[in-house]
Amino acid sequence: MRILISEDDSALAEALRFALTQSGFAVDWVGNGLAADEALKTAGFGLLILDLGLPKLDGLEVLRRLRRRNDPLPVLILSGREQPEEKVAGLDLGADDYLVKPFSLNELQARVRALLRRGHGTASPVLSYRDLSFDPVARVATIRGHPLSLSTHELSVLEVLMRRFSRVVSKEQLVEQVYTYDQEVSHNAIEVYVHRLRKKIGDTGLVVRTLYGRGYALDYLEH
Ligand code: CA
Repeated sequence: MRILISEDDSALAEALRFALTQSGFAVDWVGNGLAADEALKTAGFGLLILDLGLPKLDGLEVLRRLRRRNDPLPVLILSGREQPEEKVAGLDLGADDYLVKPFSLNELQARVRALLRRGHGTASPVLSYRDLSFDPVARVATIRGHPLSLSTHELSVLEVLMRRFSRVVSKEQLVEQVYTYDQEVSHNAIEVYVHRLRKKIGDTGLVVRTLYGRGYALDYLEH
């Protein structure tokens, strides 16, 4: 799952990015509102962390435009203590939660997890097929309860395949969900991640099929 951080304080943004990357998310960072608006129109993000005081385009305007496009993306607002009215305006415009600066990284991570769980509309967003389970919020995959050792990229590939279980996922769709803007995109690497995943889920009754020229599909072995 990709998270977009829109924050012009680069030290804070870097700290947020580090913490969320450690939690297993693919994290992008933009430093102004116009860049955020553009990014939100294209890439498939799962959550937006939005500072309100942004250069070029105000955070509230970024949010207004997002909701005008009927985009239901969960939004966590970061606001300064000196502008309590902004926080209310943000919630009125359709933000899902807010944090007042300064906040601890632990609190941020807890809010992010809560928002993502709520966003799925169920108490348990865990995806399970046969012996394989994946918790997209905790970023953990398990086989019969035992955690699998997966890199962030492998987790992202598995997440996309599980969300579209038994349907074809193109390489381009995987690339969009796996890589952040500052990472060099490699279509060959996608093949490597799929290859590693195949090995790691080998005894779950599931298989990752290659559909030449179309992409991949995670499916039941005997189909
Ligand atoms: Ca700011």
